[in-house]
Amino acid sequence: MRIPLFLFLFIPFVLFSQNPYPQDYFSNPLEIPIVLAGTFAELRSNHFHSGLDIKTQQREGLKVLSAADGFVSRIKISPFGYGKALYITHPNGYTTVYAHLSKLSPKIEAYLKERQYEAESYGIELFPPIKALLVDKGELVAYSGNTGSSGGPHLHFEIRDKNEHPLNPMLFGINTKDTNKPTISSLYAYPIGENAQINKSDSKQKIRLRAQGNGNFVAEPIEAFGKIGFGIETVDRQDLAYNNNGVYNIQTQFNGQTNFEIDFKSFSFLETNDINRLIDYDIYKNERDRIQKLFIDTNNELSLYKNTTDQGYITITDSTSAVYKIKVSDFEGNASWITVSIDGKENSTVLKTPPAVTPYYLYENKASTLTEENVTVNFYRNTFYEDFFIDFKVSNDTLQLLPIGQAARKNFSIAFDISKYKEADKDQFFIAELVGYKKSPSYSKTTRTDNTLITYTKDLGYYTLVSDTIAPTIVPTNFKNDQWLSSAKTLQVKITDDMSGISDYRATINGKWILMEYEYKNNTLTYHFSDGMSTTGQNDFKLIVIDNVGNSSTFEARFHRK
Ligand SMILES: [Zn+2]
Repeated sequence: MRIPLFLFLFIPFVLFSQNPYPQDYFSNPLEIPIVLAGTFAELRSNHFHSGLDIKTQQREGLKVLSAADGFVSRIKISPFGYGKALYITHPNGYTTVYAHLSKLSPKIEAYLKERQYEAESYGIELFPPIKALLVDKGELVAYSGNTGSSGGPHLHFEIRDKNEHPLNPMLFGINTKDTNKPTISSLYAYPIGENAQINKSDSKQKIRLRAQGNGNFVAEPIEAFGKIGFGIETVDRQDLAYNNNGVYNIQTQFNGQTNFEIDFKSFSFLETNDINRLIDYDIYKNERDRIQKLFIDTNNELSLYKNTTDQGYITITDSTSAVYKIKVSDFEGNASWITVSIDGKENSTVLKTPPAVTPYYLYENKASTLTEENVTVNFYRNTFYEDFFIDFKVSNDTLQLLPIGQAARKNFSIAFDISKYKEADKDQFFIAELVGYKKSPSYSKTTRTDNTLITYTKDLGYYTLVSDTIAPTIVPTNFKNDQWLSSAKTLQVKITDDMSGISDYRATINGKWILMEYEYKNNTLTYHFSDGMSTTGQNDFKLIVIDNVGNSSTFEARFHRK
């Protein structure tokens, strides 16, 4: 077939090259060797990690350099998530992402601040035009930090393609030394078919592993019958740090034939929630262990699988023996194996676990509404991955929705009717999820329409009505009223709220809005005097803080500057 010339020109170069990922295009975004606190696609809470977490020597403020020539295509500043994040788009169509930054380079920071002052908001998302902020490979673009949902100083670095799909940066040579084999810490066997059994039981079994001393394992032999599958807990560790990171590839073989493979090269943000279908969500919610299932469960739409036969399940017949092998590899190809010997045996006495029957059965492919007392829960079609008995109870404004180990792929709604309460009290209510062992109330984003409070969530569990009557507290941390602050670089204030949490704040000096950066992890608001919003002599500082039900506090102080 002749390809018209014009088409040929637009077919990306990558189609024709042997290795579709350019190796020297992107350079290390830091000036120090790469040490990883997190790898691509490692399993996180409700998502796959979309980049590399590069360690920054427990410090903030390291220079972050553009990994290649390009232009700043997006700046997103938020107290949460990625914190201060910079996106640079490159001529080859890829975009690199740098997150949890402490600040941006002077040129980019000036561009940002002008717009934050215009919008009167710390949180902002900007898409600068192509020519506004051009950068060269190796140019200083930011300083590393710990902003947003970050558990310690590090640089989160991503490479995304034209479709905004994150790719494993190791494919582009952004890598670190790794000579260690992945570690496998547990193995589970799952009876799947109607009459399936494993070791005389119809429920999942933890299988003991014996280390072979060379990184490989032999599983305790099992007796099984019918359609079954396996799951493992596994992590990898690179040479330069002790962090447990994710693995790159898992393959399984049934009697010498590959029947399942998953590899962590790329995924889409739309599918990342299906991680809860990849892992044994029940074990994760109840024991915090992440077991990856080595089969593709119903309604799991992840694109990470390949070379899969019968969705990775195997079928064991009576009086036959079989060998099942699992190979776990890291990016460098270091591999660990588990060998499982399976004795096919249909036992007549099988320990049966009866289903936890409740009055409410939910069909995955149907919408349903559950109502009791003043609470209504609405499940939309396909909210869950499978059909199950839901334990739904309401008493004293508290809703019980179990089991917590049932993963949802969509939000459902929980509505509380508050018409029985006094008009004056209604304003202070919010819906809280009771979380953890102690069932501590945690604000669940609540909106009110007349007498109805509603929240949207993916978490089964316990929900209750909570009243927040106390306004936020505001405490200055580096100044006092009427003080001279001529040499101070910042104004810092601690803001906290006891129940519903901080929703918004607004600070001014002499009536003009000032930028205060919010760091929720230490409840701090910071103004930088270098923004130039104060005058010589007396200045009036005013701060209003609002919680999530609308209680507000106002703090005022006077300060002086030469
Ligand atoms: Zn990260």
